[in-house]
Formats: sequence, structure tokens, C-alpha cells
Amino acid sequence: MKGKVYLVGAGPGDYKLITLKGMECIRGADVIVYDRLANPEYLKEAKNGCELIDAGKASSDHTLSQDKINAVIADKAKEGKVVVRLKGGDPYVFGRGGEEGEYLLECDIPFEVVPGITSAIAGPCYAGIPITHRDYASSFHVITGHLKDDEKDDINWSALAGLKGTLVFLMGVANLQKISQNLIREGKNPATPAALISWATRYNQSVVTGNLETIYELALQNNVKPPTLIVIGDVVSLRDKLNFFEEKPLFGKNVVVTRAREQNSQLTAMIHDLGGHAIELPAIKIEEIENNEVLSQCIDHLKSYTYLVFTSQNTVGIFFKKLEEKGLDTRSLGHMKIAAVGPSTVSSLKSKGINPDIIPQRAVGEAVYESLKDILTSTDHILLPKSAIAREYLTEELRKICEVTAVSLYHTVTEPIDKELLLNLLEQNEAHYITFTSSSTVTNLIKAIGTENINRLKSAKLISIGPVTSETIRKYGLEVYKEPDKYTIDEMAKCIIKDIKR
Ligand code: SAH
Repeated sequence: MKGKVYLVGAGPGDYKLITLKGMECIRGADVIVYDRLANPEYLKEAKNGCELIDAGKASSDHTLSQDKINAVIADKAKEGKVVVRLKGGDPYVFGRGGEEGEYLLECDIPFEVVPGITSAIAGPCYAGIPITHRDYASSFHVITGHLKDDEKDDINWSALAGLKGTLVFLMGVANLQKISQNLIREGKNPATPAALISWATRYNQSVVTGNLETIYELALQNNVKPPTLIVIGDVVSLRDKLNFFEEKPLFGKNVVVTRAREQNSQLTAMIHDLGGHAIELPAIKIEEIENNEVLSQCIDHLKSYTYLVFTSQNTVGIFFKKLEEKGLDTRSLGHMKIAAVGPSTVSSLKSKGINPDIIPQRAVGEAVYESLKDILTSTDHILLPKSAIAREYLTEELRKICEVTAVSLYHTVTEPIDKELLLNLLEQNEAHYITFTSSSTVTNLIKAIGTENINRLKSAKLISIGPVTSETIRKYGLEVYKEPDKYTIDEMAKCIIKDIKR
């Protein structure tokens, strides 16, 4: 049985600039052969067991030659596998997708092409440069800057120099001097605005602007390296006005996220949408307690409880999984009042169709106690699912009023983190913010980098979610830079934005 090959355009780099169809292909692939310019984050979407092959392709040091790439994708498909050939931008824009298609046709292997957003258009866009504009350019031209060494390259410079439209050169940094000189020699105005856009659409996008005459010198001064787009034309002058991407509040900022991978998506997505770079260093991992007999018994006796208090999003997930395993659903909770601590716990419950009766003002034990103490009576019985390392405070206080059955659902364990990555960032003052969402993220991060390195954390601004976490940070002799008034992820992000605006 033959497999199939999908030549998929991964878009220009911004994680969200891939097509739905492209993402569907990635999720369904048995093998992914990927390029350097495809955002590596997409590989996390591959299914378990998917084989990942790096095809490299930096212009001078090819990791795999084109012949080898052709052979690999064809061989894997012949084994009956679904192969995704993942390429930066669009597969047919200087991506050699055409050659791969022809080869597959020769081998009689079925294939499809999924177009992608090309960097040639998205790159200028994210640099604030519209590729056409009624007042400035009525056409655009995308040209390879990968020139042959001899003087007789395939490019008709005099024709190009005569065009009024926007010129976009890909793979052209190494030949920038030649490109600008040829155009000027053939009569293009040396004062034509020009831009160099490196790592376009990514958190590390950088842009240099000048004109046709100055751009080569500017490239040298700014040490411009591939991948870079060269844009030449009057539209470049609109950058000052239309630069929406670099204007985003977190653009150029690295924010370290220490939360468990299972729950950090909200924070990383928020950082990304604000233009920042979230560096995931999950210091903790949530480990569900297996074969939890205590939980099982609690669920068998749901009728005996009058209150159910969810203290975290994790408790909601695990509790409902168990409920489902037993063939039960929300109807079995109908007789109880339900409390939810923290906004993500509230939204988890809402997604289960439950509108919590009690939502404490703040997500700390003291506030939960306050919200319950006047409504509870001695005949009540509270079921309190929690983390194994939760403070005893709440259980102890509530027990002074009525019966409380506290049941541990999960452990928070240390996750090995990339210590070198973090220490390097700190050394270069490039970990701009580190976010801590619980005491255990603090303790475990410090355990991971070693107490001898605690002082290095002083080069970053430490953002704590609330007072309990702040206390732990201070216990290590570190300063809490900001703590939001409301203890939520949203508010943490707002703290960072406010700080930058200041
Ligand atoms: N198929 C790709 C282009 C591949 S050729 C596309 O459609 O975008 C590789 C060249 O594309 C690089 O040398 C660089 O000039 C350009 N390029 C691709 N992605 C880029 C990015 N994010 N930033 C700047 N240039 C990029």
C-alpha cells in the first residue's frame, strides 16, 4: 500500500500564520520532514510516534541535499506512511516544492500541496510595509537573490530597475551589494527606500531601513544575517505609520513561564498575542495520583456531601474524569453547593456546564474561608478535592465548623528544566520577566538551577501571582518585582504591560 505526501507551507514564522489544512496535515502525519524556516513549535502537534526528520537547508550548509530529501519522502511514502514535507512560507515560492512534486509523480506517489503564507508578503506586512499601495506601488515582484557566481545571472537587471512596483528579494543578503549596485547602474533612483527584514513575523524580527545607496553599508553595520528579506520601493516609507507588530506591548520581550506544561497554554498564548516571546521552562509537572481509592469512595458517597469546593483547575479535570469513569455526570452533583477558587477553576467548571454558587474574592485559603464561614452549619459536610501539597489552613479552619473530607488528587513534582538555557538568558540580561504562578514553581525552579545560582535571578523582573507565592520568593532573598491586585494570569500579564508602558 502506498502512502501519501503532503507538501505543506508552514507560513513565515508567527505560530498562528499556518493554515487549518496545514495544521491538520501535521497532526495526521506519520513522518514530518521539516526545514529550518518552519517554526519548530509545530512539531509539538505531531502525534505520538511520528518520525521527525530535520532537512536543515541553511543556504550554505545543507543538512540533507535535495536529492536525499526527495528520496526520503518518497521512500517513507512507499512504506505506506503519510508524509508531511514542512517548508517555511509557501512550498512553491523558492521552496523547491515543484521539484519534489515532479519527483513524486515520477515515483507514482500521490501528493497534495498545501499553500502557505509566503514570507515575501507577510514579512513586509509585519514590518509595517504594505507590498502594494494605490499611491506608491501597483505591482510587486518577488526575486531570488541567490545569484549565480558568474556575471551572467538569469536576472534582467535593466528590466527590474525600470519597474515601479515593489521589489522583494529572498535569499539575497549575501549578494546585497551586487543587487543594489546592479539596480543603481541600470538607472534605479539611489534614493529609493529599502528595508531589510530579518526573522520576519517572529518575536525576534529585526528591521533595518535606508535607501538603495545606503542599505549595503547599513547591513554591514547592523550585522544582518539570513533569513532576511530585501524590500525596495516607496512603500517602505509607510513603515513608520503602519508598524503594528513591533508596536505590540511585549514585542522584543522574553517572558519565562514556569508553570506546568499542562496549564501554561493560557499564559503563553497571551504573551504571544501581545507580541512577546514566551520561554517555557516548566519547573513543575502535575502528576495525578493513580488508582485513587479515596477519591473513588468519595464519588461513591456523593449523596453524603452538601458542599463541593474545587481549589484549582486541575482538581476539576481529575474529578470529572473519575466521575465519567464511573458512568456519572454533572447530575450527580445537583444536590450540592459548588465553590470554585480562582478564575481558571471557574471557567473549567463553566465548560462542564456548572455555574459555581460561591466564588471567593481572592484565590487564597483565607478568602475561601471567609466566603464560606457564614453560610455553613454544623450539619454540612464538605468535599474538598486538592493538591497533595496544599496548605492545611483551609481544611483545618473549616473543620471547626463542620465535617470536611479533603482528598488529594495530584502531586506537583519537579520537572527537569533546561538549566543552561535559563542561566544563559540571565547572564545576557535577556530573561526580561520570570512569571511564578505558585510557590512550587519558585521552589522547583531554584532547585533546578541550584541554590548557588539564586543571585543570578536578580537580573530578571520576578512577577508573582499572589501573596503566598511572593512570600516564597522573598524567603530566598529575592525581590518580587510585581504582584497583581487580583491573583489571575490575566492580571499578571497586565502587570507586565503596565511596566513596559512605564
Ligand atoms: N518558501 C519560502 C521561501 C524560501 S527561500 C517562503 O515562501 O517564504 C528562503 C528565504 O526566504 C530566506 O533566505 C529569506 O530571504 C526568506 N525568508 C523566509 N522566511 C523568512 C523570515 N521569517 N524572515 C525573513 N526572511 C525569510
